[in-house]
Amino acid sequence: MTAILGAGISGLSAGYYLLRKGRPSPVVILETSNRISGWIRSERFDAEGYVFESGPRTIRPKGPAANNTLDLIEAVGLADQVYPIFSNHVAARNRMIYAKGKLNLLPSDVSGVLKTVPPFTQPLFMAGFKDLFARRSGERLEDETMYSFVERRFGREIADYAVSAMLCGICAGDAKQISVKFLMKRMFEVEQAHGGVIKGFLKEAFIKRAQKDSKLQASSNLAKRAKSENWSMYSLYGGLQTLPNRIGMILKENMVDIRTDVTCEEIVFGDKRIQLIIDGKERVVDRLISSIPSYKLARHVAKQHPALSKELAAIPFVDVAVINIRYKTPNLQKHKAFGFLVPPIENLPILGVIFDSCCFDMEDNTVLTVMMGGAWFEKWFGTSPSEEQLLAVALRQVGEILKINQPPDSYKVNILRKCIPQYVVGHQKRVDGIRQYIREHNLPLGLCGSSYDGVGVNDVIFSATKCVDGLMNECDK
Ligand SMILES: Cc1cc2nc3c(=O)[nH]c(=O)nc-3n(C[C@H](O)[C@H](O)[C@H](O)COP(=O)(O)OP(=O)(O)OC[C@H]3O[C@@H](n4cnc5c(N)ncnc54)[C@H](O)[C@@H]3O)c2cc1C
Repeated sequence: MTAILGAGISGLSAGYYLLRKGRPSPVVILETSNRISGWIRSERFDAEGYVFESGPRTIRPKGPAANNTLDLIEAVGLADQVYPIFSNHVAARNRMIYAKGKLNLLPSDVSGVLKTVPPFTQPLFMAGFKDLFARRSGERLEDETMYSFVERRFGREIADYAVSAMLCGICAGDAKQISVKFLMKRMFEVEQAHGGVIKGFLKEAFIKRAQKDSKLQASSNLAKRAKSENWSMYSLYGGLQTLPNRIGMILKENMVDIRTDVTCEEIVFGDKRIQLIIDGKERVVDRLISSIPSYKLARHVAKQHPALSKELAAIPFVDVAVINIRYKTPNLQKHKAFGFLVPPIENLPILGVIFDSCCFDMEDNTVLTVMMGGAWFEKWFGTSPSEEQLLAVALRQVGEILKINQPPDSYKVNILRKCIPQYVVGHQKRVDGIRQYIREHNLPLGLCGSSYDGVGVNDVIFSATKCVDGLMNECDK
């Protein structure tokens, strides 16, 4: 028996991959809340023609992990439910930053890089020059923050306005804490090896052609379609929750036992088997896949493996407030774009606003999502803000920045506690250490989910594939 802890998208995907491989069976998925899907939560208002997403809303279609997700979507029969945003769509081309008192459109093509575009005070190509001429860090670095790397190589403006804002959008995190390896691992390695990013990439291009792992090429028609049609991002009709719902349905049809409302209290690893204490009762399984956040797994293994628990617990998470707002009037917000991000240097209580009704057809509604908090949650809102307080802040910012001052016709305030892990400096080393501990102690435990190898939907589904493959290899030994 294999148990999977957590029925978010990574736990469900792990269940699906185990099922598809046909072994080891049977499988039980244990979920502590009363629903499957984890942070993916789409609230549909079909009669009025709009959707509120409180978690993720778009998936990127490029790269090996993205192809893997598209393969999965096709395999579970949802290819015709994909809602792509093509690269020439306004939401794909237009991304904005709110800085220096106004909304600034970021360049979306080469010509934009050649001229000075606010909030920057010089053309962006100058950042490339800085990289070409900047000296490398004194001694070889093992890791550093995104901010310090980008500031060193490309200048302070890029660090303050581009990269810091981007991190607010991706992980609600602070570029001054997040590891450069989170998004720029390859760039960092190239710089450390060759003394510059551009110089390094050019040198490497001469030495060897980038190696492509043939196994990771697009295999499904959907992935090929995404490439040939040049998708920029996509969702699913009815919202992203369509995907976990479908996987959950397939698992149940195939006799995978999905139990919601169960609380795992402790995990005890025996010689050959694992004892799970669930709601005070013992359940014995052969293998365990944990897709739950690392800080929660830390609690379950604390008694038997305190050293492992300590490392798991050391991965920090942030709280995010997500405010969905809907007006019955179409096109209230005048800018045609994906939305805007607010760099932390602006010192405003929001991370950014997504223009949902600009990205997707929401009939005659204007739908916006305001993201707040993250690394600065407590600074702005204390430890336990009320929903009214958060809504008031969101509406005030929407009024001031987008000039929409009428009250919304409907809204939802979501306070998502500890929802996004922060890959701070040293994260990769810590995760390597965690995996090494598991190997050295022969624990039949696989890890997947957002705590370890990437926080996006693609990353966590990919982590489930790798986790199941690893488990299979162990079984075959
Ligand atoms: C606000 C927000 C916006 C985002 N936007 C995007 C986006 O646009 N695009 C993108 O690609 N990614 C986005 N992400 C990231 C993405 O949503 C997550 O990485 C992904 O959903 C995580 O899935 P998961 O299965 O790893 O974890 P989770 O969704 O956290 O699932 C874990 C599950 O485990 C359960 N659980 C917890 N403890 C236990 C226990 N002890 N026993 C049993 N079950 C337990 C939980 O209830 C949960 O259901 C966003 C995330 C957030 C929070």
